[in-house]
Amino acid sequence: MSFSIHGQAVSRGVVIGRAVVMASSRMDVAHYFIEPTDIGKELRRMAAARDTVVQEIEQVQRGLVDLPASDAPAELTALLDVHLMLLQDQTLAKGVSDWIVERHYNAEWALTAQLEVLARQFDEMEDPYLRERKADLEQVIERMLVVLAGEGSSVFDRVPKSTIGRNHDRGELPPALEKALAPDEAAPLILVARDLSPSDLLQFKQSIFAGFVTEVGGKTSHTAIVARGLDIPAVVGARSASQLIKQDDWLVIDGDGGVLLVDPSPTLIEEYIFKQREGNLERERLTRLRHTPAVTLDGEAVQLMANIEQPGDTDAAIEAGAVGVGLFRSEFLFMGRTAKGQSQLPDEEEQFLAYKAAVEGMHGMPVTIRTIDIGADKPLDRQARGGADDHLNPALGLRAIRWCLAEPAMFVVQLRAILRAAAFGQIDLLIPMLAHVSEIKQTLQLIDRARQQLDAEGVAYGSVRLGAMIEVPAAAMMTSVFLKYFDFLSIGTNDLIQYTLAIDRVDESVAHLYDPWHPAILGLLAQVIKTARAQGKHVSVCGEMAGDTQFTAFLLGLGLRNFSMHPTQIPAVKRQILRSNAAQLAPWADEILQSDDPHSVPPL
Ligand code: PEP
Ligand code: MG
Repeated sequence: MSFSIHGQAVSRGVVIGRAVVMASSRMDVAHYFIEPTDIGKELRRMAAARDTVVQEIEQVQRGLVDLPASDAPAELTALLDVHLMLLQDQTLAKGVSDWIVERHYNAEWALTAQLEVLARQFDEMEDPYLRERKADLEQVIERMLVVLAGEGSSVFDRVPKSTIGRNHDRGELPPALEKALAPDEAAPLILVARDLSPSDLLQFKQSIFAGFVTEVGGKTSHTAIVARGLDIPAVVGARSASQLIKQDDWLVIDGDGGVLLVDPSPTLIEEYIFKQREGNLERERLTRLRHTPAVTLDGEAVQLMANIEQPGDTDAAIEAGAVGVGLFRSEFLFMGRTAKGQSQLPDEEEQFLAYKAAVEGMHGMPVTIRTIDIGADKPLDRQARGGADDHLNPALGLRAIRWCLAEPAMFVVQLRAILRAAAFGQIDLLIPMLAHVSEIKQTLQLIDRARQQLDAEGVAYGSVRLGAMIEVPAAAMMTSVFLKYFDFLSIGTNDLIQYTLAIDRVDESVAHLYDPWHPAILGLLAQVIKTARAQGKHVSVCGEMAGDTQFTAFLLGLGLRNFSMHPTQIPAVKRQILRSNAAQLAPWADEILQSDDPHSVPPL
């Protein structure tokens, strides 16, 4: 039966493919395709895990037999019998081995896939006693997963490199899709998960998935931001998706509309194949603007810079025609490391090499490195406990510069690495989430300390321009104070909106209130840009607003001349700029600023 689920539009584009439903975080296991030659091995792993759990239960049963009858609770004995029965039931064993043999799923994935199938059957049972047996099934499967558990915790950690990009069995394709795919082309796979961390997503680049859907998350959550950077169709905040979608369901993700179609009709598939082709053509047209300078019709030059997460992303930045990196989210070097078996924090040398690689990758163009912004939806390590992200309101907690100032030794290591990399090209050092003058002063002292240490050790380093992110309303309201200390400002609209409107950017239940057109936001933006420009200081916007073409004209009208965004967004924003007249946009932007309802002001 066809139905649709609405979520938040994250990244443009359409993908049509088969669902791969990831188990809930309780059973967050590795999902990967095995080589056909490994089928036997995987079946043996599964059987061995089952035998181990059977033995464990039998051992407990034997212990119960030795107890005086009164001490052996009848419920427990019955429960263990049920668990044994479930484990030895052929429906489970056959189902799991089918996933392994026919679909080449690894044992853990096969187990969770079969659990999902059986759990649905239990849900549909009339008898409440039988319906409740679902919990028992979950328990025995969870026990088997524990036995199977290997190293690593990320969903992609154990994807063998040999399977990357490998064709998935085409199975039976809807006829419209059959026509659209090349004869040897695999049916795309779409990952459906309750949640994915931003660092999980970075591994998407090397994975077999062509799109993803999550139940949680807002448009400017970091998972969504990374997805936009990867340019893969995605929808977040699609509530109940992993309950409503079954393994192998056909799905259409409409990343522009934030809609997910489940089991679409042949006509809908045809329609979306058409939309997908149109999108691809449009992208091809836009790439022709790559070498065209971003200048308005009335001759105003605009700098379009790139937001990156990893040094290697500079290739995409260059490819898209960026004139520098406006935001290198350095925290991605620090995230999800223990899951990969690395030390918790990268040391100075590792960081230095990463920053130097970014500088060299930009071939002399400036690179803005933002110091570590860990916290909120970017935990250092998902598995680590007791971190900043464990608190009730992590977005208001020990995040970004607050965390760095609480861990000065760690921060100085990062500052030293950045200063050293500055000997190889122009680096602008950007500090996130500042709100207090005391924080500014402490930060400047630590930068001095890093320089003094390098001087004392005779280590070469370069000069950097210092910038502050304006992403807390308090900072926006004291722009002129910030300008006394900094060479440039960069407005982080994602957080500025979150903190001004008191909307958790990760919480899909309040996503409808996350409104960049809110007059308070527009007023703050105008004021920061105007104050910085009046003092001859450089100001940019590096939040998602900068890459969203619905804001380009307004930001130009406010006088903004430096935008930083995902490389994939640069061509479309550039096209808007090439069609704009900055002088005409200024009075129009003023009109919007004066309005209680900015949406009511017609476009120019
Ligand atoms: C922002 O807040 O707008 C920003 C660019 O930083 P981040 O999205 O990484 O919080
Ligand atoms: Mg921010």
